[in-house]
Amino acid sequence: MRRKLENIRQQVTKCTKCDLSKTRNKSVPGKGNFKADVIFVGEAPGKNEDVEGEPFIGIAGKKLSIALENAGITRNEVYITNIVKCRPPKNRVPTTTERNTCQNYLEKEIEIIKPKIICILGNTAFNSVLNGNEITKFRGKIARKNNQLYFLTIHPAATIYNQKLIKMLKKDMKKLFKLTKELKNQKEIKIDIEYTS
Ligand code: URA
Ligand code: SF4
Repeated sequence: MRRKLENIRQQVTKCTKCDLSKTRNKSVPGKGNFKADVIFVGEAPGKNEDVEGEPFIGIAGKKLSIALENAGITRNEVYITNIVKCRPPKNRVPTTTERNTCQNYLEKEIEIIKPKIICILGNTAFNSVLNGNEITKFRGKIARKNNQLYFLTIHPAATIYNQKLIKMLKKDMKKLFKLTKELKNQKEIKIDIEYTS
């Protein structure tokens, strides 16, 4: 498993499948535990991530870490990745073409890790993975699609200048890891949104 993930990582590192490869500094493969119960999916690398080649290491990443720590979780217990693995110029939202071109890497990450639950961070991930909109209406909810569970929450970047939202993210992280524990103990959990496809 570790080897398969390493293989994806190397493919991402040298990938030139979409135009973002022309403007990026480093591509940013997912990072974390290959046995993780939870995969976090953000939007795209930002400036710091593009320099270092690691996901969520800037201010948004700091917020995510704070919310995780508050729930008693460290970053190396989970796996963190993005919808697109290269930084869009000026941090614009990645286009549909870019997202579709990059999609296979995320699918592979999920297939290899087989997480109990995928945590969707913000609207771009919500839209790309579940065709959803208005994450603030759906945050804190559990969705199921093709037998995969998803937990929906806001993007950590939204909490940067907003105390209310950081509280919300912390609350959601506590709920997420409570649910994860219940899943590990084979408990039935309530599904809020059922996708039929
Ligand atoms: N925002 C994201 O969506 N992903 C990162 O990796 C960093 C900031
Ligand atoms: Fe490849 Fe994805 Fe980077 Fe585009 S964003 S170059 S598809 S890794």
